[in-house]
Amino acid sequence: MIDQHHGQSTAKIEDYEPIVGRGYIEELRLLGARLSGKTIQNINSTYVGGGVAEILSHLVPLCNQIGVDIHWDIIKGAGPFFDVTKKFHNALHGKIETLTEEEFALFMETSQNNLRDLPLYGDIIFIHDPQPAALVLKKKEIGKKWVWRCHIDLSDPDPKVWGFLHNFVVGYDSAIFSSPNFAQKLPIPQYLIPPSIDPLSDKNRDLLPETINSVLKKYNLNLDKPMVVQVSRFDYLKDPIGVIAAFERVRHNLDCQLVLAGGTASDDPESITVLKDVRERAGNNPDIHILDIPPNSDIEINALQRAATVIMQKSLKEGFALTVSEALWKKKPVIASAVGGIPLQVKNRFTGLLVHSIDGAVYALRQLLTNQEFAAWLGENGHQHVKQNFLITRELRDYLLCFIYLYSSGDVVYL
Ligand code: UDP
Repeated sequence: MIDQHHGQSTAKIEDYEPIVGRGYIEELRLLGARLSGKTIQNINSTYVGGGVAEILSHLVPLCNQIGVDIHWDIIKGAGPFFDVTKKFHNALHGKIETLTEEEFALFMETSQNNLRDLPLYGDIIFIHDPQPAALVLKKKEIGKKWVWRCHIDLSDPDPKVWGFLHNFVVGYDSAIFSSPNFAQKLPIPQYLIPPSIDPLSDKNRDLLPETINSVLKKYNLNLDKPMVVQVSRFDYLKDPIGVIAAFERVRHNLDCQLVLAGGTASDDPESITVLKDVRERAGNNPDIHILDIPPNSDIEINALQRAATVIMQKSLKEGFALTVSEALWKKKPVIASAVGGIPLQVKNRFTGLLVHSIDGAVYALRQLLTNQEFAAWLGENGHQHVKQNFLITRELRDYLLCFIYLYSSGDVVYL
């Protein structure tokens, strides 16, 4: 069942055959059939904004099409709850945050409200990220299979917040992380499943040049000037200020423009402050464009990525960064920080350039803006790498296998 809030994908499962091959799609159908009679219930905290909503809005309809009964619900919470979970998010990413006992209590209070109000009807309850993690408290009463899918970089989590969350995570049947360096000491099975992008979505499909140009005009961008683009929620961990600093140094002797395209997510109240800071830092430099893009502007984001000469993702911490796979799929040269799941996608000097500092970003930007041949070669390699590893069909296959394993006993899994 697809709720109309998030039923975005219109692609048919057969449409992926020309990209991944017929055999792959057949295999998905066979795996899907192994889950017949089971209902899967995804639960996260928002239908729009950020990578989790982006993935679910395409994965859920696709999974339905191979005959799996899959649903998507969200927990409810007020602003202060999301202030707390944003602090959790930052702390799990290793940022220093002080969380008070009242804040932990508020998290529990909202979790209890959701435990009371949110029907938990799935045979497999598939919980995404920390916000709804405490729902697993219901497992004692209702049973079912519970999977916790963590999209966060847990390589260096704040011990207090991880310790708190750990109490819930151990109650699950299994946990999924995006990258080997996020795996934790847990008494439950862990799966490593990187996220993915949908090549046929409005965010990633081919666009006509007229469509791209009309988006550039709408945002007053110069069609003839090389364009450096970073697409990200306005979040300090995406380091928009660092991108501006690097750009300004490059702009001294190379003619180019910078686009920071972002938006806000309803579960990320901090973004408004960040956007204000970024605007202040950019000042009135006519070559820096800060675009506050409404949610669901997928074609606009696609157009900006396609129009880019170079794509940046200068995050300080990162779960995976779907934006990197989105850019590579579009054959764009990418400069990205070597954090979180980014090195899975950017193999340095083969599918993009990895950087560790503003100095590194300046050097990489100069190189890619002046060496078009190298830039195009990186983009081509990047496209192949995403095709092999980070398309939605691969993530769907991994989840199906993980769900099937839930019903296996011992070490032997009959597929
Ligand atoms: N995105 C968007 N509009 C924006 C900013 C981001 O549609 O203004 C999309 C972006 O294209 C990507 C997702 O939101 O698909 C962000 O996922 P990512 O893993 O890069 O970062 P997260 O926001 O989950 O930290």
